[in-house]
Amino acid sequence: MNLNKTDIICRLTDSSRQEELFKTADKIRHDYVGDEVHLRGLIEFSNICRNNCLYCGIRRGNKQVNRYRLTEDELIETARRGALLGFKTIVMQSGEDMYYTVPRLCRIIESIKKFDVAVTLSIGERPYAEYKAFREAGADRYLMRIETTDKALYHKLDPEMSWQYRYECLLALKELGYELGSGIMVGLPEQSFESIAADLLFLKKLDVDMAGIGPFIPHSQTPLKDAAGGTLELALRTMALMRILLPDINIPATTAMESLHPQGRVRALQSGANVIMSNITESEYRKLYELYPDKVCLEDTPVHCRSCIDTKIMSIGRTIGQGYGSRIRYSEKIK
Ligand code: SAH
Repeated sequence: MNLNKTDIICRLTDSSRQEELFKTADKIRHDYVGDEVHLRGLIEFSNICRNNCLYCGIRRGNKQVNRYRLTEDELIETARRGALLGFKTIVMQSGEDMYYTVPRLCRIIESIKKFDVAVTLSIGERPYAEYKAFREAGADRYLMRIETTDKALYHKLDPEMSWQYRYECLLALKELGYELGSGIMVGLPEQSFESIAADLLFLKKLDVDMAGIGPFIPHSQTPLKDAAGGTLELALRTMALMRILLPDINIPATTAMESLHPQGRVRALQSGANVIMSNITESEYRKLYELYPDKVCLEDTPVHCRSCIDTKIMSIGRTIGQGYGSRIRYSEKIK
């Protein structure tokens, strides 16, 4: 559906009409992608990062973090167990940790692909040739949020990074045939409603296959510790509008939403979302991947998380996706 910037700002700011917005998004979700919720098994395999983003708990400058990285074998073993638990997609996420060179990552991707799963990478910015090598090794999807399309704000929050380069990475990933996931945080300091509306239109124009929208949650060990942060309500309204703008894409109910409210992900699933990323990192490591505080399920095991999520999904009358859960374009579906 086409909404212009003014329509979007109007719906973003109008909390009195949000239930109506959520209902509309839920209906579109039902009509375009159905009642299945696709589960992804998320492995947070390294919290070592060369970047210093002001909002992020694992930024290079945070000296209080105990840093870890999984060995090749640990990572493959975690993925194997995820596949045994029934996950049809394995998402490998980390800080920008250059220890994972092309040969190393390609070996890992090739091993994990043998478990009959889709592989998603979420490891940040790399040169084109590396993205190409990962794709040839079997990686199917790539997840990298643009964070915000307000370039001035982006450069304030990620002072050593270039918005333009990040954007070019997204274009390169698309060209290489990855299914492309991107997204934003809402509630960043100085972020305006107008800029969130522009973000949504940017994601629509880029025609992303997956869009992750989460509230920014201030972390006490970062320069933004005193910032206000985003609310669940605003994140849900933004997400619902994303569903209206791109009806047939995958939209996750994000962990950050759940961290703000125990029913955050269920509310998201009822307001346009159709994907959940379940943490399958072993618990000794999951506490250390602290992007923001109060991340949920830190003490839980992969098996526990899986059964908890299954229960939540079924309690609202939805089913668990049995396939890989790729985006199926509506134009393809109705042929
Ligand atoms: N290095 C990878 C993964 C980054 S972590 C990459 O660059 O894509 C994954 C996401 O967590 C980020 O893209 C960001 O949107 C989100 N994130 C980081 N810090 C956060 C915070 N304090 N609150 C909410 N989300 C945060």
